[in-house]
Amino acid sequence: MLTLEVCRSLDQCDPLRECRRRFSLPDGLIYLDGNSLGALPAAAAGMLHDTVEEEWGQGLISSWNDAGWFDLPVALGDAIGELIGAGSGQTVVCDSVSTNLFKAVHAALQLRPDRHTVVAEGNNFPTDLYIIEGVKSSSKRELVPRLTDGTLRGLDECLDQSVAVVVLSQVNFQTGAMLDLERVTRACHDVGAVVVWDLCHSAGVIPIALDDCLVDFAVGCTYKFLNSGPGAPAYIYVADRHLLTVSQPLSGWWGHVDPFAFELRYRPNSGIRRYLCGTQPVLSMQAVHAGIGTYCGVDMDQVREKSIALGEMFVNLMGQECQQFDWTLASPDNSRLRGSQVSFRCKHGYAMIQALIDRGVVGDYREPGIMRFGFSPLYVRYVDIWEAVQAIRACFQEKVWLQEEYLRRKTVT
Ligand SMILES: *Cc1c(COP(=O)(O)O)cnc(C)c1O
Repeated sequence: MLTLEVCRSLDQCDPLRECRRRFSLPDGLIYLDGNSLGALPAAAAGMLHDTVEEEWGQGLISSWNDAGWFDLPVALGDAIGELIGAGSGQTVVCDSVSTNLFKAVHAALQLRPDRHTVVAEGNNFPTDLYIIEGVKSSSKRELVPRLTDGTLRGLDECLDQSVAVVVLSQVNFQTGAMLDLERVTRACHDVGAVVVWDLCHSAGVIPIALDDCLVDFAVGCTYKFLNSGPGAPAYIYVADRHLLTVSQPLSGWWGHVDPFAFELRYRPNSGIRRYLCGTQPVLSMQAVHAGIGTYCGVDMDQVREKSIALGEMFVNLMGQECQQFDWTLASPDNSRLRGSQVSFRCKHGYAMIQALIDRGVVGDYREPGIMRFGFSPLYVRYVDIWEAVQAIRACFQEKVWLQEEYLRRKTVT
């Protein structure tokens, strides 16, 4: 039997408990949506203030050189590289995930000029599928959905010598089901396919070893578990061995070998800078700096263990406190096959989530009928899980879906 007391004592011996101070969270709010928008790092406002007042206000144009603005994409890329097992010089921060995926798929296709098929998971985050559709030289073949045991049905049958590129998310955004990045990468390589991983829902909560697993390309965002703020730029990883072999299609001046030579012909930079396109949003980049800073000195194995424990506790408490109500687990049963979220199918999911937000418990809703709760182990406590499940029980008991106000659809769910 789990009790509030048990949760309190788990918080007391949590090796990550001090990390919560690195964030500025509203009092009394239980925030289980760090997989959608990470919490505000306590250092962010000060860092942005200095950038605005000093670097921009006083330094003006000279800050491109003197304040390190020019190098931000690679400096921050290397910092993210440390979280995803990428040696320096292979990761840059720039653009959105969608844009970076376009570059990656394009470059990956060039590695297999005699093949045209791109295989992707049928229920991946839609932008990934839209982008593949937009890469005109490819023919798309979708896989059937990911199973709740974390495997992809049909992957092995799909993989043959005609496949050029495989695009997959390590953790599925809806169900949280996690793939074995090393094993799947090997299976793709066995048929000569190039692999592009989307790390949006895994970076920052799962130890990742891109270099060791011989991953070819990866993309990910910084505003989810990496806490870098709304719309913060994304990142792209390209393995060293592919850097000089292929180019990306968005050949803007920022990727040129010498942007300030103003040559009339494009010559790509020989390093990861060739994946840049145009001028970076410096203010947002400074927020990425603050976001990555929240991981300073943090042991990713401890993060993963706590993430698993929080998810297990959530599922167990749902069984203990809410068994009589109408919901089912949409995530894998086995917590080791989940990322850092749990999802529940529930007929009244949308209204339930709105009512929970009203009670200070923030999760989110994804079609069709999925209530999603994410756990950022740097700031979510075990007592938060307890309180969240108590609130869910109250919402079920009160049948909140009968209240008009909770049924009105908002633009962003
Ligand atoms: C969040 C997310 C994105 C976001 O793409 P943007 O272009 O940065 O808006 C893309 N793919 C996946 C899997 C995501 O979870």
